[in-house]
Amino acid sequence: MLPETEVASEAPSVTFADLGLSQKVLSAVTDAGYVNPTPIQAGAIPHALQGKDILGIAQTGTGKTAAFVLPMITRLEKGRARARMPRTLILEPTRELAAQVEENFVKYGKNHRLTVALLIGGVSFDEQEKKLERGADVLIATPGRLLDHFERGKLLLTGVEILVIDEADRMLDMGFIPDIERICKLIPFTRQTLFFSATMPPEITKLTEQFLQAPVRIEVAKASSTGVNIEQKLVKSRSKPWDKRAVLRDLIRAEDAELKNAIIFCNRKSDVSELFRSLVKYEFDAGALHGDMDQRARMAMLSAFRDGKLKLLVASDVAARGLDIPDVSHVFNFDVPIHAEDYVHRIGRTGRAGRSGKAFTIVTKADVKALGAIEKMIGNNVDWLDGDLSTLGDEPEQEERPRRARGDKRERGRATGKDKRSVAKQDKTTESAVAAVAEHDVQPEVKPVLSQESRREAIRHDNAERKSRSDHHGDRRERGRRYHDDLGPAPVGFGDDIPAFMLIGMPISA
Ligand code: AMP
Repeated sequence: MLPETEVASEAPSVTFADLGLSQKVLSAVTDAGYVNPTPIQAGAIPHALQGKDILGIAQTGTGKTAAFVLPMITRLEKGRARARMPRTLILEPTRELAAQVEENFVKYGKNHRLTVALLIGGVSFDEQEKKLERGADVLIATPGRLLDHFERGKLLLTGVEILVIDEADRMLDMGFIPDIERICKLIPFTRQTLFFSATMPPEITKLTEQFLQAPVRIEVAKASSTGVNIEQKLVKSRSKPWDKRAVLRDLIRAEDAELKNAIIFCNRKSDVSELFRSLVKYEFDAGALHGDMDQRARMAMLSAFRDGKLKLLVASDVAARGLDIPDVSHVFNFDVPIHAEDYVHRIGRTGRAGRSGKAFTIVTKADVKALGAIEKMIGNNVDWLDGDLSTLGDEPEQEERPRRARGDKRERGRATGKDKRSVAKQDKTTESAVAAVAEHDVQPEVKPVLSQESRREAIRHDNAERKSRSDHHGDRRERGRRYHDDLGPAPVGFGDDIPAFMLIGMPISA
């Protein structure tokens, strides 16, 4: 049966009190400072309270979490949890999103005594099992960890009354659809299902046809629309990673006056790690977020960024998707995203709630096709910051980045001083500054925000993670070359006698 469709729009006259929520929930919403529901909330909550299935097409940042959390809490007021039989289940693609939803239950469930269990990877099974044993009103889980518990016989899904599938299109990207199908079949058919996705690719439509019953469809914004208050620019670059890193450093410096905080997106998690290390070496105040980091490190990184203690966060799409980080002033696409839709999601991290934001995308000759797909999807061409790719000139691409002089202390000192002056003379266009940095390896004039010790600690941490990763076992020579080429400026004052601990885990080619 075709779903009933509502296209939600701004409805400022509607208040939370009009939606049918319980008094206890309303009081928590008032305490959170919210008066008017967002369109997805106004559209979904009344139907969800009536027990109907919902198909919500909404991106993160639209208030969709409260759109399912508030009616769930209201409905959970009747009845109580039994051991190993959770009453509701929320599936999230990443641990951060799961933790974020848990925070919402803490905020909006402050007048209730709900037992909320979080089943995510990177945390010990024992503690999670104890919570399940006590009986959970709300179970928030990533699909893999949920099935692990199920297979260990610690969990029964036959008591689930409400199932939430959040960020379904991201689940698809991450290969979780078979897990989702399996989980849906373990839950009674009589449940209520609340299903959210930013986009509706065919695989997701199929899933909704299979598992939703006469859903009310609520659509808040097309995934292909980009915010009007986001200034978008393309920035040309040669294709080598060190060229792109130089372009990025230059951009960050050029934006310094307006840059409050930024997310820098890479397509691959190995590049997240590499770019993060390079930025830290260049004394930028940077952190990283990628799927291979352990849970504690990810949460710490995220809260430092949210609290304004960290200015730049390098992230992959998967790690950053859906994170609630309000008020990011800049987004930098270190790589042009492979899927055009990711462009919209990425730049949507800035310019939220009517604020203005800036999004820069570094583009190389290899990205022309992907860029075309993005421009087609968003329906217009994005302007170039400082000339398009044809203005890069015909110079052949460098096979390897020029090394800084390692053998001669005087040579390095002399070169740095001279180059600083030569850069000062040049006009500040991206190209000239980039060329200067690439050619002379100029010491960047960026004040260190992290202490030497915390930078070393961050790199040590990242090295440990690298070691444990499977993709770490590449060709030794290739690896040595890659990590050596962009170490950034040598630690000042050590000359060539850099203590070994500062080079931990960084392969140096002969
Ligand atoms: P979400 O799309 O669920 O990630 O929510 C995005 C942000 O909007 C979160 O910081 C919420 O706390 C906030 N928010 C949710 N509902 C409202 C509301 N009705 N009015 C204002 N802000 C809200």
